[in-house]
Order: sequence, then C-alpha cells, then structure tokens
Amino acid sequence: MVSVDFPGTGGPIGLRRVSASTAPRSALPQRADVVVIGAGLIGLSVAWTLAGRGLSVAVIERESVGAGASLAATGMLAPAAEHEPGSDLLLPLAIESLHRWPAFRDALQAASGIGIDYREDGTLVLAIGRDEVERLRFRHDLQRRSGVAAEWLSGEAVRRREPMLRPSVTAGILCPLDHQVDPRLVMAALDAACRSAGVAVVEGCAVEGLDWAGGRVCGVRTASGPVAAGIVIVASGAWSGEGGLLPEHLALPVRPLRGQSLALRTTRHTGTLTGMVWTEQVHIAPKSDGHLIVGATVEDCGFRPGVTAGGLYALLEGARRVLPGIEEMEVEAVWSGYRPTSDDDAPIIEALAPGLVAATGHHRNGYLLAPITADAVAELVTTGALPDMARPFSRARFGGQGSLRASA
Ligand SMILES: Cc1cc2nc3c(=O)[nH]c(=O)nc-3n(C[C@H](O)[C@H](O)[C@H](O)COP(=O)(O)OP(=O)(O)OC[C@H]3O[C@@H](n4cnc5c(N)ncnc54)[C@H](O)[C@@H]3O)c2cc1C
Repeated sequence: MVSVDFPGTGGPIGLRRVSASTAPRSALPQRADVVVIGAGLIGLSVAWTLAGRGLSVAVIERESVGAGASLAATGMLAPAAEHEPGSDLLLPLAIESLHRWPAFRDALQAASGIGIDYREDGTLVLAIGRDEVERLRFRHDLQRRSGVAAEWLSGEAVRRREPMLRPSVTAGILCPLDHQVDPRLVMAALDAACRSAGVAVVEGCAVEGLDWAGGRVCGVRTASGPVAAGIVIVASGAWSGEGGLLPEHLALPVRPLRGQSLALRTTRHTGTLTGMVWTEQVHIAPKSDGHLIVGATVEDCGFRPGVTAGGLYALLEGARRVLPGIEEMEVEAVWSGYRPTSDDDAPIIEALAPGLVAATGHHRNGYLLAPITADAVAELVTTGALPDMARPFSRARFGGQGSLRASA
C-alpha cells in the first residue's frame, strides 16, 4: 500500500516526505555514469529513463523526494487550457509530451506497481459575467488558430456537464484532450521505479559544488563526500538559478514563483466535479480519492515559505465564485511550492558545458513536460545530441549556449 499525504499535512509545509515503502535510502556512491542534482519530478523522470538505457545513475537530493515544486503541483496535463498569447514556442513540445504520457504512465505503473490516477476528463475553462465572456472568446480564437481542440459551450451546456456550478457561469470552453495525474502518486511511483531500476536516490545530501577537470565536469562535491560522474544533470528546480553551483557564465535564468494551493475533502453529501475546472482566479481538479485541489496563486516573492491568509482567501473566494458547494467541504491541507520559472516561462534543456546538462525551468508545466524532457535528456546523454523538438529550449534564446562534447 502506498502511503502518500499532501504536502503540509502533519509537518512543515512543503517538506512532507513521500515514500512508496520504508526501505532504507541509498548510500552516497563514489561514482556513477550520471549524477542528477535534485529528486523532483524532472530529476527522477530523467534518472529512471537513463537507468532504463543501461547507465548507472545517482540522484542527490538536499531534502527529500518531491520536496520542491513537485509535491506542490496539481498534476494537470493541460496544454489546451494553458495555451495563451506568447506560448507558441512551447505548444508543440507540450502536445507531443501529452501524447507520450500514456506510454510513460504504463511503464511507470508497471515498474512501480503504483497507479497514478491518470484521468482523461478534460478541462472546462469558465467565464462569469460579460467581461469574462469577451476574454474567453479571445482565448477560444487563439486556441482555434493554434489548432488546439477546444469547444465553445453555453452556460447551460456547461452546467449540464457540471451541475454543481453556479448559474452565474455564462459560458465555457471544453478542452477535451487535457488530462491529469495525482502528483503524490506520480512521485511515489517514480521513487519506487528508480529504486527498482538500481538508481541510487540519496536524500538529505546537498550538492555543494561541481568538480571540473580538463574543461569538463567530472563529478560533484557534497557534505558527505565527492561523487565522480561522466555527466552531471542540473535538475534542481527553482534553485537552479541560485549562485554557487554553476560558474557565472553558465548561470541559468531561473527564479522561484510561489504557488499556494489547498485540498478539500468531498463526500457524497457535498458532491464533486467530474473534470478539471478553470476560472480567471483558480483551477479546481477532482482526484479519484475524493479530493478537490484548488490552486494556485502566482507570487514573485522569492523563496518565502508558508501560506498566507491572503493567498488562501483568494483561492477560497475564487473557488466559491463558481462552486458554492465548497462551503461544506473540509479543508484537508494547505501548502505552497516554488515553480522553477525561466525568463520566458519555457524550460531549459541543453548541454551547458562538456559533462554538464540542464533540465530545469519547467514553470507550471513540469508534469505535462516530464515525458518529453526525460526522453530528450536521455537522447542528449546517450548520443550527444538533443532531438530537434527540444533544440529551441536552450539558453541561446536568452543569449548563451553550450555543448556536451566540445571543450568548454
Ligand atoms: C502550486 C503549483 C501547482 C503546479 N501545478 C502544476 C500542474 O498542474 N501541472 C504541471 O504540469 N505542473 C504544475 N506545477 C509545476 C511543477 O510542479 C514543476 O514544474 C515541477 O514539479 C518541477 O520539477 P523539478 O524536478 O524541476 O523541480 P523540484 O520539484 O522543485 O525539484 C528540485 C529539487 O532539487 C533539490 N535541490 C535544489 N538544490 C539542490 C542542491 N544543491 N543539492 C541537492 N538537491 C537540490 C530541491 O530540494 C528539490 O527537491 C505546479 C507547481 C506549483 C508550485
């Protein structure tokens, strides 16, 4: 039986441990073909994929599996609902990654024995009142121009799909191809899959520096000792932009964007939603264990842990505006996490220098982009070249570049 809790439940917010078993954690190895910095969703997805290609992999995590953004997420795989002006670069990558999710899910569930609550209910993007209908029409036009599946619904048609919504909902867009997973289960499954594939997942161990020799990275330094490696992958999420680890000329333009969320418990008496709902203020995602996740604030406040009264008030008010039934639901957990956000909200996937790869900056789309990120990094590590689709996601778009094989 998998034991998973929401972040913030029974412990300091955002630091909740998620584990598929009580098996002892790995010791720090002396060397590995690949060292991954950070046991978040991206680090573990990459590690598991590389182990499947026959490489020895160590993941080194400062806190515990998923303690960064990954356990704070809602788990929406929603390229259609997320599509907005300026995200044209990301859309093909996002759609391709969504196509890869069923195979990723099947392999992950088979390797771990853990179901990840993959749901294909779609997203309803809602408008309340005349102004919001105008903005929703603009969004729908953009979706259609970009070839994204999206169907315009009247308020009545919206309520036929979701009878618990308020009569003041005036229109909606149904994005039928958007899916979702449960992050608590995905992280537990990745943790278990990595360990059964022989990945050394070392928790409570910070990477303090990179070792360089002859112009290439050849390992990492930690408080518990060095680890030699052929390739080091920076998957340290919102912390990848912090100084100290990378030389200044390789600094990554990634910053934390705090998101606060909460989980409500539904019962037969309170009722629930059948699929994900988006408004201009909040998203609400029903999980198969009866929870509704309400998220998420977007706050450019640096690394400031915790939840605020203002953040929770905004979430609850935004949810109540469309779903009056939340008043009867129990609040099960509240938490916050840091989205790893680049200057254009798209990820950075590239060889920064010989022996050094970045897989970070996934902002609010880490879950959506995990399968394609893992495949792209695995191809880069094993062949020395990124697949064409991932090439636009280098720092070159911000004015820098690197190569895995060439001399630094
Ligand atoms: C509130 C919220 C809602 C979200 N909802 C969604 C959603 O619905 N769909 C979606 O696709 N995405 C969503 N996201 C985004 C998604 O969670 C992230 O994009 C994704 O989790 C990033 O994963 P990561 O592995 O890069 O980073 P993280 O999960 O942050 O992992 C990085 C890890 O690196 C570790 N670390 C840092 N520095 C070091 C060091 N020096 N040594 C060792 N370890 C280190 C950290 O402790 C951390 O565990 C959401 C995010 C938030 C905050």
